[in-house]
Amino acid sequence: MRLYEHEAKKIFRKFGISVPQGRVVSNPAEAREAVVELGKPVVLKAQVLVGGRGKAGGVKAAGSPEEAERKAAELLGVEMRGFKINKLLVEEKLDIARELYLGVTIDHTRGTPVVMASSEGGVDIEEVATKTPEKIALLHPDIRKGVREYETRRLIKQIGLKGRELLRTSSILWMLYRVFRAYNGEIAEINPLVITTDGNIVAVDARLNVDDHALFRHPEVEALRLERFESPLEREGQKRGVNFVDLKGSVAVMGNGAGLVMALLDAVKMVGGEPACFLDTGGGLSMERAESALDLLLMKADSDPDVKAIFFAFWFMITPAQEVTEGFINVIAKKKPQIPIIGVIQGVAADRAAEILEKAGIRCYPTIEEGVRAAVGVM
Ligand code: GDP
Ligand code: MN
Repeated sequence: MRLYEHEAKKIFRKFGISVPQGRVVSNPAEAREAVVELGKPVVLKAQVLVGGRGKAGGVKAAGSPEEAERKAAELLGVEMRGFKINKLLVEEKLDIARELYLGVTIDHTRGTPVVMASSEGGVDIEEVATKTPEKIALLHPDIRKGVREYETRRLIKQIGLKGRELLRTSSILWMLYRVFRAYNGEIAEINPLVITTDGNIVAVDARLNVDDHALFRHPEVEALRLERFESPLEREGQKRGVNFVDLKGSVAVMGNGAGLVMALLDAVKMVGGEPACFLDTGGGLSMERAESALDLLLMKADSDPDVKAIFFAFWFMITPAQEVTEGFINVIAKKKPQIPIIGVIQGVAADRAAEILEKAGIRCYPTIEEGVRAAVGVM
């Protein structure tokens, strides 16, 4: 999971890395107020989960509250490299003397972290790596021992820093490694780390990617992930451990496997229907999760009058048929839904499962084509 710049900066600051003073805003009036509060010229930075915002016009300077308000209005709502800009980070504008690069990531060929520093900051580091690899200093620490300060000092010396700048930058790199390890990082990066004209050393940009499989160790990051789902039903899906994407259409669609559900959405469209949602239960479903998945579709149907039918397809193999049928029967007994529910069941013990579901009022079809036609109401 990639964090937003402002989220990463909050963590960096907690670990002792200096970041510019700033506020997150979501409308032009707030941008204006932020400049009044900060009382100095600012940069407005689009909060999107892609790099290269500077080049794409996503970083704009503003000298006054009025200018900030105007430029915020230009940025907010605009799409940048496939992401809509919903928030801006309004930060004090720094006077830059030098831009450096610091990063920690995993070197997959060695299976260890790699700590990197370069005198060429503020530019695409991949490009530095291909064109002038000698300008990047590298270190592969032993993860059992971590990084020692003398090691980061050696690295920063290699990129040409001296004296106070050397010590300060080395200590920031050491702290960046600690962030990386503490958060089960995939990438922790400062590009650029800026030396200001008055001699301060500040992380002007911040990137942190947390390993998705380690999110359970970081409840505060998991909470940030949940915040990103705009629809309450999508958040509910996350809580229930299923993949739910809210759409606008008449047929609520579910299946066990993302690829299967994608194919079901296509099938719905092919016979002239519109899918109302995407629900992937994943494999190895328990009775409880099957129950809560169908229950989520019923919530969708209750809250959205456009939904006219529920359509699902399950392939039983890793997912046990009995768990799913029992789960579905429980929900139907509890909620007594009026909306037609149409299913396609295949795989191990499929006939028996279909028979049980038919008794509970679910119309089962042997093929996706027949099922989807029934759901869309073409036949
Ligand atoms: P990215 O393009 O998405 O990586 O966004 P960055 O946060 O790295 O910003 C891009 C560039 O904008 C930086 O490399 C700087 O050159 C410039 N920039 C960002 N903040 C400031 C600032 O406070 N002062 C000045 N002068 N330039 C800034
Ligand atoms: Mn950057």
